[in-house]
Amino acid sequence: MFRWSPGADERWQEYAVEPGADTTVLDALVDVQRGQDPGLAFRYACRVGMCGSCGMVVNGRERWACRTRLSTLGRGRITVRPLYHFPVLRDLVVDMAPFTARMRAVGAAFAPSDGERRYARIGSGSGERQDIDAAIECIGCGLCVSACTMVAHNSRFPGPAALNRAFTLQRDSRDAAQSERWGVLLSDDALARCHGQGNCTDVCPMGLAPTRSIIRLRQMATARLLGVSRSGQRSVAF
Ligand code: SF4
Repeated sequence: MFRWSPGADERWQEYAVEPGADTTVLDALVDVQRGQDPGLAFRYACRVGMCGSCGMVVNGRERWACRTRLSTLGRGRITVRPLYHFPVLRDLVVDMAPFTARMRAVGAAFAPSDGERRYARIGSGSGERQDIDAAIECIGCGLCVSACTMVAHNSRFPGPAALNRAFTLQRDSRDAAQSERWGVLLSDDALARCHGQGNCTDVCPMGLAPTRSIIRLRQMATARLLGVSRSGQRSVAF
């Protein structure tokens, strides 16, 4: 287990646990904290795969601790370390502020049009809703950001979660900030930087595919640019 606290050196520490058939990584961490090392720091809240706060790197792969059974990790030693690409606050706890900053950088808040009705008027069967559908269940766990090698390489790259969120807004006909958002998405450090390796999609615990959202954004951007050159107008139907 990775251990670090301010003023101390990084170190790896071993703990032994007696797992049951359904013991999860989170159960084991709680067990260690209660019985062996009360100073061990990790974050969790719901324990049932809804809040996304227990993300960490287990045996070299980003996972949510509460839904990862020890029995699925094979026999022998299990390594647990904090998410990559986030500042470590202590042990397995990272500062999620960069996640929020990336979201903010792409304008991840819905911007209602003037006079927009209060409740959604987009039918569940509409093409727009179905296109967005696959991308809306993000729980903000940050696993995809940790797994993304481009995030490691380019600090200005928004990362998979923010681009996934941006897709849902660029495809939402009620949103009024799309022009502004395209300015960010089409800059040198956003859509153009994704190499399509798909690490984000591999690790997403909700089964989302940020890679697909990025491809869809690129398709929309291309159609938009073609629309501009053909008609001189910005709007293109998808
Ligand atoms: S897209 Fe998936 S992996 Fe990324 S933050 Fe959202 S839920 Fe987590």
